[in-house]
Parts: sequence; structure tokens; C-alpha cells
Amino acid sequence: MRRLRRTAAIRDMVRETHVRPEDLICPVFVEDRPGGPVPVESMPGVFRHTLESLPGEIGRVADAGIRAVLLFGIPAGKDCEGSGAYDPDGIVPRAIREIKAARPGLAVIADVCLCEYTSHGHCGLVDGGGTVLNDETLPFLSRAAVAYAAAGADMVAPSDMMDGRVAAIRLALDAEGFADVAIMSYSAKFASAYYGPFRDAAGSTPRFGDRRSYQMDPANGREALREVAADEAEGADFIIAKPAAAYLDIVRDIARSTNLPVVAYSVSGEYSMVKAAAAKGWIDERRVVLENLIGMKRAGARMIITYHAPDAARWLKEEEPQ
Ligand SMILES: [Zn+2]
Repeated sequence: MRRLRRTAAIRDMVRETHVRPEDLICPVFVEDRPGGPVPVESMPGVFRHTLESLPGEIGRVADAGIRAVLLFGIPAGKDCEGSGAYDPDGIVPRAIREIKAARPGLAVIADVCLCEYTSHGHCGLVDGGGTVLNDETLPFLSRAAVAYAAAGADMVAPSDMMDGRVAAIRLALDAEGFADVAIMSYSAKFASAYYGPFRDAAGSTPRFGDRRSYQMDPANGREALREVAADEAEGADFIIAKPAAAYLDIVRDIARSTNLPVVAYSVSGEYSMVKAAAAKGWIDERRVVLENLIGMKRAGARMIITYHAPDAARWLKEEEPQ
């Protein structure tokens, strides 16, 4: 076996898996307030941007060679129906227009959910007893998707985990003349402790209860394939598995079960653990990040959503053989 590992040239020749900057999708947080960016304390290097600081951030991301951003909005106010999510002049539609004006070639994916916008912090409407309502939530998600499409989003990414939302959103987009807007569905989204730092960033921690009645049980792999099959039948164009690192078997199983492009979402907790250990000098950040990404690709991910995207894209360019 060692004959194939003897020199860098031979190792390059036999390498089975590659990560390219265009495989990476960079999440971006935009907050509805004046002023400059504010750092997210639990995610070193990640900021809550504003419409003022957004063009600079988008330029940085695009110049690194990244082709797509995933946009999350943080509204100025919240209410029980999450109306900020589908306001045509809400923070996300305004941010989409800003990004498209600054970098028209960059693909904009708009996350669709209610949790950043609802006063209770759940991903759907909630009844008097605290139950998250499924079918009643779908029209609100659809309105949000249409608002983002109208603002110029290339894709919408429903992350709420309500049943039937891909079909509802597809129907609404088609009815409003947005048949060419794709749906990147968070099909297998697990109820994970790894989302902790994101909730800091997006201000979306539920006020009561947890998300286990709609997000998946981390113990279930076969159920993930049922979710994928349902979303595929409903018209999804991409399938997301989230989180990534502790769920590589899920990524692999999904990649074998569908011909749609599979996206691994390497979540905030995965990012923060690497950053914290690197800050302590306990790991080599660059090598660990690139190794994690290659692991996700090897498992079957076609693309990876990661907060490391701008750094990783630069490192990948540096590693290209001269
Ligand atoms: Zn949500």
C-alpha cells in the first residue's frame, strides 16, 4: 500500500475525495438595526451583520471563491405569528436585494423558519396549550418563501421541520410565478445540543419547552430516510442533513438513497468546539477544519454549509498545487 503514499504527487493522483471552495455555503446573519457588526460571543469570527456591514461581508465571502450564502434574519421585533418572517420589507428581503445589488453572481439561499421571528421562539405557530401546530404553520412559511423569492432569492431553505412544508412552499412559489426558485430542504434535522451557539447568534431560543416534537430524535437513522423520501416526493431540489459531524452515517445513508444533491450542515456547536480548542492551542485549526470537511464529502455530501467557509476556501486555494 505504501507505494501509493510515497510522494506528494502520487498521493495527489490517487486522492479519492476533494473539497473545493464552490462546495462550501457560508451562513450569514443580518440584524434589523442601524450600526456595524456585533461579534457572536460563542462563535469567534462570526458576526451579526447589518444592512450597512453586509456588502463588505458579502465581498469577503465571494472573494474567497464561495458561490453561495445562506441568509438568516434577526428582526427588530417579534410577535406570536412571526410576522417579520414574511414581511416583504422585512430584514431578509432587504438583505437579499442588498446582496444581489453588490454581487449578482452569488447564489442567495434564504432560510425559511419562524423561530427568529416568534415571541415564543418556536419554529411554528403555537396553540394555547403550548403545542406547535403543523398545518396552521404552513401558510406562514409559504408566505415567507414567496417574499424571499420576490426579493430575488435563488433558493429557499425551510428549516422548521413541519410536515408537508416542501409541498406547500412549492405550490405557493409556482402560483406566484417563482417556478425557477429552488427548495433546499432541511430534510433530516435532528433535535441537537450542537445548535446552542446558533441560538445566541440568531436569538431564537424557545421560551418554553424544546423542539423534540418536530425535530428528529438523534437515535433515528431509518426515519431520516423517510423524511428524505417525503421531501423528494414533495418537490425538494436539495436535501440537507443537520448536524454533520456526529451524523456522518446519516449523510452516507441519505446520499445512497437519493439522487438529489446532499448538503451537510456543519452546525454552530461543531464550529465553536474547533475554535475553542484551537484558541487553547490544543489542535491545529486549519488541518482539523479541512479534515472535517473532507470527512463530510467522503460520507457523501455534495456541499457543506459551514461557518468556517471563508477561512476554509482561502486555505483550499493555498493548497492547490502550483
Ligand atoms: Zn426554526
